[in-house]
Amino acid sequence: MRDPVSAYIGLGANLREPAATVLGAMDDIAALDGVTLSRRSSLYGSAPVDSSGPDYVNAVVEVQTRLTAPQLLAQLQGIEEKSGRERPYRNAPRTLDLDLLLYGDATILSASLVVPHPRMNSRAFVLRPLAELVPERVSAASLQSVMDQAAWRL
Ligand code: ADP
Ligand code: MG
Repeated sequence: MRDPVSAYIGLGANLREPAATVLGAMDDIAALDGVTLSRRSSLYGSAPVDSSGPDYVNAVVEVQTRLTAPQLLAQLQGIEEKSGRERPYRNAPRTLDLDLLLYGDATILSASLVVPHPRMNSRAFVLRPLAELVPERVSAASLQSVMDQAAWRL
C-alpha cells in the first residue's frame, strides 16, 4: 500500500451559517475513508473578493491520506455537493468550497486538477490559516503581497 501523504485543504463558505458549514465540512473530511484529519487552523472571516454576498468563513485543514490527489478531490467534491452547493454562474456565492491546496510536494497540472492551487498565493484567507499549520510552506513574500487583504481570525 502507498505511504500516506500530507495534504492541505482550504475550506470556504459564505451562505447559511458559514462557520457551522465549515466546521461540519471538517468533520465530513475527517470521516472520509483513507483520510485522517490531523490538524485544523483557526476560523477566519474574509470579505468576498471576486464574489458577492456576505462575508466568508475560511479555514485550512491538514490530512494524511492514502488517496491519490484526484481521488481526494473527488471526495471533496462529494462533500461540496452534499452541502447543497449551487453554481448558477461563475464565482456565485457558494454554500461550501473545498480546494486542494497542497498534496505532499507534488506538482499536478491536469485539466481538472492543478496543485499547488493556482490562486492560493494571492489569497490572504488561504495563506494566513495555512501559515498557522505549516509556516515553512508559506513564503514571507506571499504573505507580504496580501497584507492589504482583510482576513481576520474569528
Ligand atoms: P475556486 O475554488 O478556484 O474559486 P471553483 O471551486 O469553482 O473555483 O473551481 C472548481 C473547479 O476547479 C473544479 O472543476 C476542479 O476540477 C477545479 N480545480 C482545479 N484544481 C483544483 C484544486 N487544486 N482544488 C479544487 N478544485 C480544483
Ligand atoms: Mg474550489
